[in-house]
Amino acid sequence: MSAYLSAFLDLLYPPRCPACGRLTGELLCPACLVKLESIRGPICGRCGRPRSISSHSCPDCAGEQPYFSSARSAWVFAGPGRELIYDFKYRNNTRLAEALAKELLPFVTSHDVVSWVPLARSKKWARGYNQAELLGRRLARLTGRPAVAFLKRIRRTADQSRLSPAERRKNVSRAFAVRRGTSVTGLSVLLVDDVLTTGATASECARVLVESGATTVHVVTLARAL
Ligand SMILES: [Zn+2]
Ligand SMILES: [Zn+2]
Repeated sequence: MSAYLSAFLDLLYPPRCPACGRLTGELLCPACLVKLESIRGPICGRCGRPRSISSHSCPDCAGEQPYFSSARSAWVFAGPGRELIYDFKYRNNTRLAEALAKELLPFVTSHDVVSWVPLARSKKWARGYNQAELLGRRLARLTGRPAVAFLKRIRRTADQSRLSPAERRKNVSRAFAVRRGTSVTGLSVLLVDDVLTTGATASECARVLVESGATTVHVVTLARAL
């Protein structure tokens, strides 16, 4: 979107706080910003889960090792953080993309290329965009690395929200493939998504990338379920 068009739209529809609806020029209004639960302090070095003390892994990662080398998230998936993501994902508020991508910057490790978790084609068509791709493309610009759509969905998956961790892994198993015409061989990949829940989807995407020759996959998401 051009700068003029977005300035014009801001006049017509002034930006509101996604969590409470107050007018604000920021991502969240000051009152909601203080309620945003940023993830700081001790975490599992592998999956980024908050812990009482820092560790290389946690019971989740020790049980079923993820294929990504690490995952980091900016906030806990609750309260204003969840509202922000809903606004961005389901309420068409794509103008949040730039500010949200900047939220991911502190969690970025060195990488050759940026990619994202793909959306089912029917969902992308219905929604008009893939929120993870919007974030990934902005983040690539911010880090000065290329953005490449490496992955595609190759079969339908059930909605993950009501599934147990084991069911989620099974649900996403063999659901992704590397797109023809792209090559990830020898590259370290920064994989972007909006929310990390059990990490099953991110891990399955990482497996496909690593088995196709990626050296490492580091995952960044806006939020993480606890
Ligand atoms: Zn607010
Ligand atoms: Zn962990």
